[in-house]
Amino acid sequence: MGSFQFYKPKGVEDLLKMKAELGERGLILAGGSNLLVYIRNGIINEGTFLDVKNLKPLKGIDTSNGKITIGAGETIREILESAKLREKIPFFPDSMKEFANPLIRSKATIGGNAADASPAADTAPPLLVLDTETVIGSHRGERVIPIKEFFKGPKKTALKPDEVLLRFQFSVPEAGKGVFLKFGLRNGTAVSVTSLAAWLALDGGKAVDIRIALGGVAPTPVRAINAESALKGQKLNEESILTLSEEVEKDLRPISDVRGSTEYRKDLTVELLRRALRKLSGTEAAL
Ligand SMILES: Cc1cc2nc3c(=O)[nH]c(=O)nc-3n(C[C@H](O)[C@H](O)[C@H](O)COP(=O)(O)OP(=O)(O)OC[C@H]3O[C@@H](n4cnc5c(N)ncnc54)[C@H](O)[C@@H]3O)c2cc1C
Repeated sequence: MGSFQFYKPKGVEDLLKMKAELGERGLILAGGSNLLVYIRNGIINEGTFLDVKNLKPLKGIDTSNGKITIGAGETIREILESAKLREKIPFFPDSMKEFANPLIRSKATIGGNAADASPAADTAPPLLVLDTETVIGSHRGERVIPIKEFFKGPKKTALKPDEVLLRFQFSVPEAGKGVFLKFGLRNGTAVSVTSLAAWLALDGGKAVDIRIALGGVAPTPVRAINAESALKGQKLNEESILTLSEEVEKDLRPISDVRGSTEYRKDLTVELLRRALRKLSGTEAAL
C-alpha cells in the first residue's frame, strides 16, 4: 500500500481549492468502486483522497424548467429509483437497470462512471443520445462542454488536473422514446462487451429523430453518425432495418480484448441495433 492522505471537503469551494492545490494528486473519491480497485491493484499508489460522497452540491436531480439536471454524485441506484426522472424520461432510469448489480449500483456514481472514461461505461450511451452537457468546475469558475467532447480516449477525459465534474444537463427530446441494450459476458456484474442506446421519433412510420450511441466499440463511447444519417427520414420496417443497420459498421473502430474480438464486437453491435430499432419502431412483435 502506498502513501495516502484523506480529506473531506466542507463544500464545493473547499473541494475546488484543494483540487487546485493538489492537481492530479487530489483523488476525487465518489463511490470508490473503481478507485479502490486501482489502489488494490497498485495502479495508483499515492495521493490525497478528496471525499465527495454526500457532498451536497454534487447531489440532486432537478427536472423543473424544461431541463434535466443530475448531480455528478448521484448514485446509479438513486437515478434508477428517481420518480422525477421516471416521469419525464423513463428511458434514462430504465437504462440503469443494466448496470452491474444492486451493491455496485448503490455505491457507483454517474460522475465517477463518466470521469473514469471506460469505452464501455454504461451511462455513456444514454447520456450521448440525449445530447447531454457536462458542467465542470474549478477555482477559475464553471465551464460547459458536450459529453461527446468530454471523452478523449480510454481513461482520458477533458478534465484538467484542477477540475471536477459537477453535474450533467440535458433537455428531454420533444417526441420519441429510447432504449438501452447491453451485451456483457456475464449478466449482473459484467462490464459491457458492447452496448447501444437509441432514441427514435417516428412520423408516419418515418424516422424523424434518430440518435444512436455505442459503447465498447471504439476508444471512447461514440455517436453512430453514419447509421443515424442513413436511417433519418427512412420508413422503418423489417426490410429497411436489416439493410440499414449494417451502416453502423462504418461507425465502429472496435477494440479487440479479452472480452471479445473485433469481428465479434461488430456482429454484436449490428444485432443490438436491429433489436433496438425493432423495439422502438414497434415491429418487434411481428417477428
Ligand atoms: C464488480 C464491478 C462491476 C461493475 N460493473 C459495471 C457495469 O456494469 N457498468 C459500468 O459502466 N461500470 C461498471 N463498473 C465500474 C464502476 O462501478 C463505475 O465506473 C462507477 O460508476 C464509478 O463510479 P464511482 O462513484 O464508484 O467512482 P470512483 O471509483 O469513486 O472514481 C472513479 C474515477 O473517477 C474520478 N471521479 C469520480 N467522481 C468525479 C468527479 N465528480 N469529478 C472528477 N472526477 C471524478 C475518481 O477520481 C476516479 O478516478 C463495475 C465495477 C465493479 C467493481
